[in-house]
Amino acid sequence: MVIDEILAYNEQFVQENRLPIIGHTPRKRMAVVTCMDCRLVQMFELALGLERGDVIELRTAGATISESEREGGLNDLIRSLAGGIFLLGVREVAVIGHTQCGLARTDPTVLIASMQALGVDPQPLIEKAGPKSWIGAFDDVHVNVKEVVNVIRNSPYLPKIPVHGLVIDIETGKLEMVERG
Ligand SMILES: [Zn+2]
Repeated sequence: MVIDEILAYNEQFVQENRLPIIGHTPRKRMAVVTCMDCRLVQMFELALGLERGDVIELRTAGATISESEREGGLNDLIRSLAGGIFLLGVREVAVIGHTQCGLARTDPTVLIASMQALGVDPQPLIEKAGPKSWIGAFDDVHVNVKEVVNVIRNSPYLPKIPVHGLVIDIETGKLEMVERG
């Protein structure tokens, strides 16, 4: 399994490296919300000029909050942002979606078939929100970024601080400002 590969690498890593001890409050006092896409691994920090200890990074599928969790302004993303803001000094938030996002092209038929193939009954989801809404699929990354920015801005559990919305090009790393907070 891949985990064995990781464990072997890690053993070597800790033998060869001594990491500097740094605090857990983000130096730039910023939280960034982005997608879980594997193409963002390392590239994201490089393209934004972010170093270890600079910001809090939150990743969700699609850099989104699924529709069913938006109401009331309390969900896991808000909870994490609250931790960053109230406990770690975060004073600025950037929601960064990306081009070619898997959730912008989610085919509910494929999702349902995949669930069934892996022994998960999709019926309860079909009856409730519908699998597309549950997984957080959207049609337009720019619209999604704006919506997530609004959910964060309007959450009664968070203070009024700047919340920006951006889209990063997954091929070039170029950032586009969609909405400045
Ligand atoms: Zn994505």
